[in-house]
Amino acid sequence: MSYQVNQHGFYGPYGGAYVPEVLYPNIEELQQHYQHILRSERFQKEYETLLSQFVARPTPLYEARRLSEEIGARIFLKREDVCHTGSHKLNNTLGQVLLAKQLGKRKIIAETGAGSHGVATATVCALLNLECCVYMGEVDMQRQYPNVERMRLLGATVIPATSGSKTLKDAVNEAFRAWINEPEDTFYVIGSVFGPHPYPDMVASLQSVISKELREQVPAITGQQLPDYVVACVGGGSNAIGSFYHFLDEPSVQLIAAEAAGKGIETDYSAAATFLGKQGILHGTQTLFMQTPDGQVKEAHSVSAGLDYPGIGPQLAYLHHQKRAQFVAVTDKDALDAALLLSKIEGIIPALESAHAIAALRQLSLAPAQVVVVCLSGRGDKDLETYINYRSTQNTL
Ligand SMILES: *Cc1c(COP(=O)(O)O)cnc(C)c1O
Repeated sequence: MSYQVNQHGFYGPYGGAYVPEVLYPNIEELQQHYQHILRSERFQKEYETLLSQFVARPTPLYEARRLSEEIGARIFLKREDVCHTGSHKLNNTLGQVLLAKQLGKRKIIAETGAGSHGVATATVCALLNLECCVYMGEVDMQRQYPNVERMRLLGATVIPATSGSKTLKDAVNEAFRAWINEPEDTFYVIGSVFGPHPYPDMVASLQSVISKELREQVPAITGQQLPDYVVACVGGGSNAIGSFYHFLDEPSVQLIAAEAAGKGIETDYSAAATFLGKQGILHGTQTLFMQTPDGQVKEAHSVSAGLDYPGIGPQLAYLHHQKRAQFVAVTDKDALDAALLLSKIEGIIPALESAHAIAALRQLSLAPAQVVVVCLSGRGDKDLETYINYRSTQNTL
């Protein structure tokens, strides 16, 4: 059983490359060269050096003793929150921009919702001296103003998306439009395991550094060859696929994907694509996403900006289809409670996205000796205001 992409760019019924004809040459160029470049000695050497010196890898695997006591199992946190720019996102943008350079591209475009992927892309463009344009919904630009200024400090141009709901999906549309207008010397850096083939596979390969490190860290730190569980939150799915990647063919390792239930999967305010989604084509790929009765994309809702996306990547849709990964839905409230708990008992303020993975632990029936690895995908500085507001509604001191 392979959970990897086949030669046609599919994972079972999911995946593929559904793009306008003018983009075929770009997509084909990428399809033909990405594996060769990613595996080349030149790429590997540069990527690994910068992962270590610039991103700060390997990230630690930390035994969270007080959280373990609280949950009733041995909980280990994979500390992606200590990466430069605050999350796992740089693993991907660094790889894609290095690849773009090897393809001779001069200009990088990206889209961003909350701004994290935009900042991670702008950071690498500054490092490697490439022109960078980031598309961002006008509403998101107002909501996430500090990230807009960060991107500008890093030398990027931020272009507002003014159509539709003026949020992430509109920024994606604008970025595709820009790519169509200047296909030859432009490289589009996608922020998750999403988009037309080969993006989902390319991003998965780059993020697989997370589980590559885990394969060494788990035996050394837990004394057990393999973890019993690996748990990660899912927006598009890149930190989840990165954490699962080198465990996919180890059936004893249970893979848990925490989706954002928002206000609850029974409400109209949710982002749980495997619970509420249907198969269709979104942003160049055949996958699961939330739809209106007539098949239009439905707005997602989550308190966490990074999980506020109506779909999941095709490989994750396939892991769901094959029941290789178990999906759980975590509400805004449960994620917020988990974030406050982790801050208080472990001294780690997590990103709201990552707090969904922590909260998911309560939905599993765990035994005290079991080894559970949770991907702590990012840090919570960006969510401070949300935490302050939530805390003020609680009666805690
Ligand atoms: C962007 C982001 C996510 C969601 O993206 P995935 O592709 O699903 O990993 C999760 N956590 C953090 C901290 C993020 O910044």
